[in-house]
Amino acid sequence: MTTHQRTIVASIDPVKLDRLAEVAVRVGLQLREGQDLFLTAPVAALPLVRRIAEHAYKAGAGLVTPILSDEELTLARYRFAKDASFDRAPVWLYEGVAKAFSADTARLAIVGDNPMLLAGQDPAKVSRANKANSLAYQPALEKIAGFDINWNIIAYPTASWAKQVFPGDEEDVAVARLAEAIFAASRVDGEDPVGAWEAHNAALRLRTTWLNGERFAALHFTGPGTDLTVGLADGHEWHGGASTAKNGITCNPNIPTEEVFTTPHALRVEGRVVSTKPLSYQGTLIDEIAVRFEGGRIVEAKASRGEEVLGKVLDTDEGARRLGEVALVPHSSPISKSGLLFYNTLFDENAACHIALGQCYAKCFEGGGALSPDEIAARGGNKSLIHIDWMIGSNEIDIDGIKPDGTRVPVFRKGEWA
Ligand code: ZN
Ligand code: ZN
Repeated sequence: MTTHQRTIVASIDPVKLDRLAEVAVRVGLQLREGQDLFLTAPVAALPLVRRIAEHAYKAGAGLVTPILSDEELTLARYRFAKDASFDRAPVWLYEGVAKAFSADTARLAIVGDNPMLLAGQDPAKVSRANKANSLAYQPALEKIAGFDINWNIIAYPTASWAKQVFPGDEEDVAVARLAEAIFAASRVDGEDPVGAWEAHNAALRLRTTWLNGERFAALHFTGPGTDLTVGLADGHEWHGGASTAKNGITCNPNIPTEEVFTTPHALRVEGRVVSTKPLSYQGTLIDEIAVRFEGGRIVEAKASRGEEVLGKVLDTDEGARRLGEVALVPHSSPISKSGLLFYNTLFDENAACHIALGQCYAKCFEGGGALSPDEIAARGGNKSLIHIDWMIGSNEIDIDGIKPDGTRVPVFRKGEWA
């Protein structure tokens, strides 16, 4: 490690970093005695990877297997690899990952790469590489999307990411500020983070219980530039915070998380909607998205920036133009109050109500665990290689719940629970 790297790591509070590792293992994963753990992380996140391994083994982990990525290695491919490389992915590796998931291995992802890493690269190559990767990852992703095993995503403040969020600061200052923002949003800035997560999960459960009792047929969003009716899938179920995987473990897949979410009906979305925050997608910033839905399908799409990439995303497959998720987040959420744009979906999606293009979550159905892909499709669940969240909420958004008989119930007023 160079002196510079040491300064960067020293700007991250070691006590809170250790609490984040503990929360990942004890709250995020609820790792079971004897369970193996597969984790991916940027190489810069090694200080957190080591602490997680320690907490995992203390919790009785069988085997902790990390795979680390590196920004320079990723860029080397774009600079020097042959063109045919961009239609390939390490299929053998993903097959192994799917096999590990089938054998009840838990999954942890640490995110923290520079969100603009690929901004200067050929969008066609980026999209081909993403597609090849998505295809290869599909068998493993199905086990994550189907919630077969306990999994968790957390974040680490790498220097390249911190400089995106705080461009005006020196690297060590930017890292310290991003670290504090991550710790606060992940609720590890207090003395009892595990207790704080229990209370937060209970508050989210109150919301999902109410929404599941109301049995809305649709949600109607109105605000500047937005008049959107999102039909909900038949037999949809709202989730949020902790939930139980098919292997019986109750875990918190996302840390942080502020959303309650469910599955829209792939064929019953009508109207116009605009994004309220930029979407950082694989190194490209897509800003001021404006789309129109007809029969659940996006028939018009514009963006003030990144429109070409948005167009490619929508052409990924048939399901890429339809919705797989609708999520409610109050404007007063701690992440929204921080006023920061993280350029990372894990954080930004928890600052505002959002919708996701693409694949739905099988667990967001009554009896979801037992439904076959055909049954999910018959209830209106969307299928796609992609799942991309973008923000449509703000302090100007009103939402009504519409019952099957047409009765309207206020759900949000001016961005807050009604
Ligand atoms: Zn979401
Ligand atoms: Zn999502």
